[in-house]
Amino acid sequence: MGGSNKESIVWGDTILSKLDIHQIPVLSDNYIYLVRCQATGACAVVDPAEAEPALDKARELGWTITHILNTHHHFDHTGGNEAIKAATGATVIGYGPDANRIPGIDRTVVDGDRIMLGGARAEVIATPGHTSGHVSYWFPASHALFCGDTLFSAGCGRLFEGTASQMWASLSRLRDLPAETLIFCAHEYTQSNITFALTVDPRNQALRDRAIEVDTLRAEGNPTIPSFLGQERAFNPFLRADKADFQAALSMAGADPVDVFATTRLKKDRF
Ligand code: ZN
Ligand code: FE
Repeated sequence: MGGSNKESIVWGDTILSKLDIHQIPVLSDNYIYLVRCQATGACAVVDPAEAEPALDKARELGWTITHILNTHHHFDHTGGNEAIKAATGATVIGYGPDANRIPGIDRTVVDGDRIMLGGARAEVIATPGHTSGHVSYWFPASHALFCGDTLFSAGCGRLFEGTASQMWASLSRLRDLPAETLIFCAHEYTQSNITFALTVDPRNQALRDRAIEVDTLRAEGNPTIPSFLGQERAFNPFLRADKADFQAALSMAGADPVDVFATTRLKKDRF
């Protein structure tokens, strides 16, 4: 992350700038991301739980915050909106139908919208399930996905407002993105997610390998995020509800993937 190369790539018929990305751990286990277009310097804060850590880090890096991107309305993703906006004049972007519960919202988006952060383009993907209005921001040129509380490493968000069917559809859409996509989720939950995942999918070698990697990273005080989508497909139980070996491990061979997903989510809730 935070590469110093100024690079642009041609994507479709548009020259798209790449991003520098900085990860800021806040509260007990949240991540805020500072995302800056290398070509123009436009800079977004993704899901600011708090204002000060984002403002301080931007100042330290010499980055000027121009946008706030919210994935959903929860306070640990929007708590810093008003203060950052007051300090920087940043434009707050969030999901249209949730505008009344996203503080300071200036610009609304819905599924399929494209937004420009300077020269970097993001695709807005509606990913309901954790909340009824949750969106993810995908920057194809940087292989970066900001998915809030939808997809975590080895886990997924709790179903607070949506249904298992909605969440499975959302996760299936994210799963279809390119394998090299980097998952920038909003929480460091990986270690506890893996502890659970091993109880439902104990013979999954990719999961066992990830467990060792994650234990090492955490023991050294390092983040486990971002993680690669291509690897998540192999070990994240919430991306595997339609896979024969996972269904067999749950004694649900041939079941509807939505039921397999719902069963797995319920087991995790009770874990
Ligand atoms: Zn949330
Ligand atoms: Fe959260």
